Amino acid sequence: MKRAVRVGRVTIGGGAPISVQSMTTTKTSNVECTVSQIKQLEEAGCEIVRVAVQDEEDARAIGKIKERVSIPVVADIQFDYRLAILSVENGADKIRINPGNMNKERLKDVVRVAKEHGVPIRVGANVGSLKQRTSERWRDLAESALEEVRILEREGFYDIVVSVKSSNVLETIRANEYIAERVDYPIHLGVTEAGVAETAVVKSSIAIGYLLLKRIGDTIRVSMAGDPVREVIVGKKILISLGLREGLEVIACPTCGRAEIDVEELARKVENTLFHINRSLKVAVLGCIVNGIGEGKDADLGVAGLKDGVVIFVKGEIKERVPKRKVIDRLKFYIDQLLKEVE
Ligand code: SF4
Repeated sequence: MKRAVRVGRVTIGGGAPISVQSMTTTKTSNVECTVSQIKQLEEAGCEIVRVAVQDEEDARAIGKIKERVSIPVVADIQFDYRLAILSVENGADKIRINPGNMNKERLKDVVRVAKEHGVPIRVGANVGSLKQRTSERWRDLAESALEEVRILEREGFYDIVVSVKSSNVLETIRANEYIAERVDYPIHLGVTEAGVAETAVVKSSIAIGYLLLKRIGDTIRVSMAGDPVREVIVGKKILISLGLREGLEVIACPTCGRAEIDVEELARKVENTLFHINRSLKVAVLGCIVNGIGEGKDADLGVAGLKDGVVIFVKGEIKERVPKRKVIDRLKFYIDQLLKEVE
């Protein structure tokens, strides 16, 4: 079993549930914007949030941000040891640093302050930070991350989370397998610079999914260009698909010439309205009744299109016909009933 590391009220490793992380895109010292984005992330299910610390103003803002949000805040620092210390002193629940870029004496100061405050440190490597490159880049990544770990261990610091990231799926997988065999610190998983939309979803799902199925990885971040809320939603869906988290799963038929309703539109509406449900529930949205109910039989709840509305079924049994405009309200009603039954 991996060691456990406490990040504020969230535990990473030690058998704790896999947590979903994201990173804000705002200037951290703009407290209003940063708090507003963190709240959106939190509402979407983000459990740990990282903020970029580029100057003293950013580091000092962490205290003010933490007064107004309830999830742990991680400070992301590139080189400056003073910003690392200032972030911890201002309440950062974890810091991400690059010890290899810090003078040994300065690093000692960072480690001392982190120990005093009980704050863990995330270290690691990504392709951008590699100093040495051989033909086996995944090994370079892994070795570089392990070297960062050793630097902290030499300072007597073991409250560590480690990550190795590449934009390449196979490199990410191999590098993480390599470090998982060599250290028992919790691992932060992700594909870095994964890309936009579908590309990022596919790469992250393969790499994170594969590694989690091999029981490698303790916290995840799906990296996507654009609104970070989508990172959180995709991260949660990966965990739900792997059976590592309870939550709503919306299945939808691919549609064909028999479809009587706009399946994609309705499925999106269902997801957007019910995404907050954190119990295992499968809702099927199907284009027609001809094959629909049969296809959706393993769903808890389903909707199948009719010429003049939809039919709603619960565990394969037809409950009622409703006009399209009432679908969401009626689904909510049946979901409430199902949730009460589960409780
Ligand atoms: S449920 Fe109906 S509309 Fe959807 S794919 Fe099957 S037959 Fe086609």
